[in-house]
Amino acid sequence: MSLDYRTIKEEFPILRTQMNGKPLVFLDSAASSQKPQRVIDAFSDYYRCRNANIHRGAYRLSYEATDLYDQTRRRIARFLGAAEPETCIFTRNTTESINLVASAWGDTNVGEGDEIVVSELEHHSNLVPWMMLAQRRGAKLRHIPLTDDGHYDYDRLDEVLSPRTRIVAVQHMSNVLGSIHDIKQVTARAHAAGATVLVDGAQGACHLPVNVADIDCDFYALSAHKMLGPTGVGVLYGKRKILESMPPFLGGGDMILTVSRDSFEPAPLPAKFEAGTPNIAGVVAYAIALDYLEKIGIENIHAHEKELLRYAVDELERIPGITLYGSRNLESRGAVVSFNVDAVHSHDVGTILDEEGIAIRAGHHCCEPFMRKCGISGTARASFYVYNGPEDVDALVRGLQRVREVFKSVVAH
Ligand code: PMP
Repeated sequence: MSLDYRTIKEEFPILRTQMNGKPLVFLDSAASSQKPQRVIDAFSDYYRCRNANIHRGAYRLSYEATDLYDQTRRRIARFLGAAEPETCIFTRNTTESINLVASAWGDTNVGEGDEIVVSELEHHSNLVPWMMLAQRRGAKLRHIPLTDDGHYDYDRLDEVLSPRTRIVAVQHMSNVLGSIHDIKQVTARAHAAGATVLVDGAQGACHLPVNVADIDCDFYALSAHKMLGPTGVGVLYGKRKILESMPPFLGGGDMILTVSRDSFEPAPLPAKFEAGTPNIAGVVAYAIALDYLEKIGIENIHAHEKELLRYAVDELERIPGITLYGSRNLESRGAVVSFNVDAVHSHDVGTILDEEGIAIRAGHHCCEPFMRKCGISGTARASFYVYNGPEDVDALVRGLQRVREVFKSVVAH
């Protein structure tokens, strides 16, 4: 393995615990990653010694909390290659970041008969907000055709781009198949058609190097909890001019410059989009997660995951009765393996693996349209991160042998 994942693993206290009397094998990082001790410490240290509301207090503790909060903004801006920290807005998660754009940008820029381009592989978070916008504004959803191996069909991209396209909302990496998309190409072609581009980076920033300036996307949305950070913290990067042109999303404290009896003037970026008291402790601890990821190196993490993916696919392929989903070209994939075991329901696979201490995900993975397209109700999904090693794949393989044993009447042997 190219990465010293064993030393990294020691930093994650939960990975030393047991589940159902067996050592925990955590293979569900695509849903949410585990947290290293340093992030847990930063979170509790904040509450122990630094807790105060930001921006408002006329006392040192509040100034310091504000400073720490803004420090994370500078850290995430650097992480994403955004030149100006104010263009990185803190939200609750990717879902809220996308909803912010669909409401604040969408309601002012999308009208009757306009088109919103998505794909059938998108997570519900990058579908439903656009459906809601389309319903509100009388707009239409169009879908980028997919190739058989679960990538965007770039040869057919122009079929869905038209002078009516207002926004193209695409994922960086699929949470079901692991497909890594060429979002730079999508952005360039969408821009050529006059459209704005939002990238759902929930599975991007945690596994892949991201440079928003290079991608040239207009918005990039992500969740801290998928990248070693706390839950309840998300980020929306947006180009300054576009963010400034948008009305606020939520109204309340902190997002205003002035309020008179009947009207208000919004604050400049980023406060304009950060109404109310945010998840200060979460944002503060997130900086430590970003430091750690940078120290390990996101390129190294990606390389490590590629090795693990190859090993997992090789091993699972050898088990009779297993159907694997996703591209055979593993170079174009991140460390997510979706599969089914013959006629066994994915939830049953999950339950038996759980008895062995192995945590995977089962079901439609918030991608119902894609499951329908494939004619299945769901898949079992194992996903890997920086703390996983080949021994976790071996445990999964042993667990799947048990699934085959329990369901021997319906599984190929
Ligand atoms: N998009 C993708 C591709 C995802 O994998 C997820 C999380 N599973 C989301 C969006 C939503 O992320 P969150 O629940 O953190 O808002």
